[in-house]
Amino acid sequence: MSQRITQLDDVTVRQIAAGEVVERPASVVKELVENSLDADANRIDVTVESGGTDRIAVSDDGIGMSEADLRAAVREHTTSKIEDAADLDAGVTTLGFRGEALHTIGAVSRVTITSKPRDGEAGRGTELRLAGGEVESVGPAGCPEGTTVEVADLFYNTPARRKYLKTTTTEFSHVNTVVTRYALANPDVAVSLTHDGREVFATTGRGDLRSALLSVYGREVAESMIRADGESGAVAVSGYVSDPETTRSTREYMSTYVNGRYVSSPVVREAVLSAYGGQLSAERYPFAVLFVEVPPSEVDVNVHPRKMECRWSDESAVKATVETAVEEALLDHGLVRSSAPRG
Ligand code: ADP
Ligand code: MG
Repeated sequence: MSQRITQLDDVTVRQIAAGEVVERPASVVKELVENSLDADANRIDVTVESGGTDRIAVSDDGIGMSEADLRAAVREHTTSKIEDAADLDAGVTTLGFRGEALHTIGAVSRVTITSKPRDGEAGRGTELRLAGGEVESVGPAGCPEGTTVEVADLFYNTPARRKYLKTTTTEFSHVNTVVTRYALANPDVAVSLTHDGREVFATTGRGDLRSALLSVYGREVAESMIRADGESGAVAVSGYVSDPETTRSTREYMSTYVNGRYVSSPVVREAVLSAYGGQLSAERYPFAVLFVEVPPSEVDVNVHPRKMECRWSDESAVKATVETAVEEALLDHGLVRSSAPRG
């Protein structure tokens, strides 16, 4: 009898797993920026070439890694963020915890990491090079405190996947979306984005959302945005929305953060749109950056880690709170007509 079923070799298993985490350059950028934020960075510089398909570098001034930690970090299922399932149950406060990003990114690209711990000896950093998941070299490096991860030739060893990459413009727009998201969620961190040698934006890290909006979206958009705040029961919302004239043709500029974490929330987007009460032109969408706070027990943000969806226990309460907050902000600024009595 012939046998049809065989065990996949390690390289194949690794490439399949990598495909789940790393879809395109923007997914690499997301993982690296999250790592920098988890490392307590005050400054994060993201540099990409050709939309990230040729090179991605994320540099931070975070806590850094010793040589031993750096060697461990690139192995499979290694993390400093949780120790066991009990920690998971207690609630994770970091953006990462799965311990798979560096390892899987390494499996499908050429990675160079230089790092130096904050409390490290002067001048003593470490450089580690990986290609296709294998450590090629580890040695001393003169580098500042913090970490720089450089990812070159994404998908060089998985040609089928490389073929699915879109144009530089499309890939860069995904990268831009991701970096913008984290820059707005963390106005106290100075975040910069550079594409093919041109600085796209740089936030100051001064800590206020309005100045981050100014850096990311430019003066015209930032000046069109007004504060929207509200609270009802267990739901609180705060942030900014644009006037009904300052719009774009996609919903992409309507960002929602739930308890500080970015989510794609159709419920919140619908609530925002309905607050404009017909003042928006057809197929036009406002800018909105809204932070929704609910007790962690009232929302499940882990419905799908990559799509960043969430499930509310009381969807209508969220919708009502957001809609009222945005509507009142627009009314206060005379930007929409009152349609129905509020109460
Ligand atoms: P996770 O973030 O889920 O822990 P990663 O594979 O992304 O897994 O990273 C593995 C580990 O490497 C992290 O837990 C952290 O200890 C360390 N690490 C990664 N990036 C950085 C960074 N920029 N600064 C300091 N430590 C880092
Ligand atoms: Mg991570």
